[in-house]
Amino acid sequence: MDSECGDEFHHFATDAIHAGYKPSDSQSKAVIPSICLSTVFKLDEPQTGTEFVYSRTHNPSRKILEQALAAIEGAKHAFCFASGLGAATTMTYLLQSGDNIVCASNIYGGTFCLLSEMLPRFGVQTTFVDFTKMESLVAALKDKKPKMVWFEIVTNPTLHIIDARAVIKSTRDIVPEAIIIVDNTFLTPYYSKPLDLGADLVLHSLTKYINGHSDVVMGSLALNDDSMAKKFRRFQNNLGIIPSPFDCYQVNRGLKTLHIRMKQHDKNALVVAEFLEKHPKIERVLYPGLESHPQHHLARTLMKGYGGVISFYVKGDYQHTRRFLKSLKVITLAFSLGSFESLAEFPATMTHSTMSQEERLKIDITDNLVRLSVGLESAEDIIADLDEALKTK
Ligand SMILES: *Cc1c(COP(=O)(O)O)cnc(C)c1O
Repeated sequence: MDSECGDEFHHFATDAIHAGYKPSDSQSKAVIPSICLSTVFKLDEPQTGTEFVYSRTHNPSRKILEQALAAIEGAKHAFCFASGLGAATTMTYLLQSGDNIVCASNIYGGTFCLLSEMLPRFGVQTTFVDFTKMESLVAALKDKKPKMVWFEIVTNPTLHIIDARAVIKSTRDIVPEAIIIVDNTFLTPYYSKPLDLGADLVLHSLTKYINGHSDVVMGSLALNDDSMAKKFRRFQNNLGIIPSPFDCYQVNRGLKTLHIRMKQHDKNALVVAEFLEKHPKIERVLYPGLESHPQHHLARTLMKGYGGVISFYVKGDYQHTRRFLKSLKVITLAFSLGSFESLAEFPATMTHSTMSQEERLKIDITDNLVRLSVGLESAEDIIADLDEALKTK
C-alpha cells in the first residue's frame, strides 16, 4: 500500500515524532519531555486565567500528548480522558434529557452498555440500527431526529465495513445539526481520518494501537469545532475523567512509532489471513484486506490500510475452538487488541458475553468464531503457532 500514500505518510511520521514538544520548550533543553507530576502551579496574581492552575484542569504532560494527537488526526483540537469509555461518557454530556442517539447496532460492547444502560436513567434514549442497511438508518434518522449519530467504520468482531461517506451524507441531509461520531480505534488516524470524511468527533481508545504496548488505559476525542472544544476543556475539569501525567507520557512515547507499527500489523495480518483462508480446518476468514471480503472494494475507498484484526470461524464446535485457543503458545488468549504482541479472544464468552445468544447469533458471533489481534512477532512464528494449535483441536 505504501506507494499509494507517499507524502502524506511522511508528514504523518514527522507529526507523530515532533508535534507537541520541542527541546527548546524546556529550560534544560531535554530532547524528551519530562513528566510534570505537580498537581498545582504557582500564580503571579491571586486569580485564575493562566494556562496551568491545577492538574485536573490542565497539565503540561497532557498538553503535549493532546497536541500530538491533534496533529496526527489532522484536527484542530484533541482531548484525553481516563479511558476510551471515559471519552465516550464525557461526550454524552453534550446532550440533555429528551435527546436521542442513533447508534450502529454492531458497536463496541462498552459503548453499547453506556448507551443502553447508563444514559436512559438521564432521559437520553438510543436507537440501535444496522448501519450497513441504509434504508433502516434513513428511517431511524427521520423518526428519531437524533442529536448524535455514532458508529465504527470497521465493526467488531465480524469486520463489516460501514460506508462512512454514505452514512454522513444521509445524516447531513436528514438531521443537519446532529453530531456525527466515529469511533476510529480499529483503524487509527494512520489508516483513516473520519474528520476528513465529514464526521464531527473522532473517538479513540488509546489503550489499543495508539499506545500500542498494553500498558496504559486511555481515550481521546479529536475535533475541529472551536466552541465544542471549549466545552470539552470544561468537561475535563468538571467531570474529572482525566488521565495521569505518567500515562500521558507513555502514550506520547507509544505514538511516535504508530506509523511503523501499523504498517507491520497490516502486513502480518494479511499474510496470516491468507494462510488461514487456505487452511483445511478453517471455515471462513474475515479480514477487509482480503480480496474475498465482500466489502473489500468499499474498504479500499475508505481506508489506507486494514489494521491487524482478523476474525475467523474454526471448523467444528465450541469444544474444538476452546482446545485450539488453549493450545496457542506465541499468541496469548486475552481481551483487547492493538498491541505489539498477538492476542486471541473468543467473542461469544469474552468480549460479547453480555449479549444474549440470540443477539449474538444475529450478528454471526457463533461458538466457533475467534478474533485475532495480529501482533508484530514474525509472521512465520504466528502462522506456525496457529498451524500447531489447529492440529490439536
Ligand atoms: C477498547 C475499545 C473502546 C473502549 O476503550 P477503553 O480504553 O477500554 O475504555 C472503545 N471502542 C473500541 C472500538 C474499543 O476497541
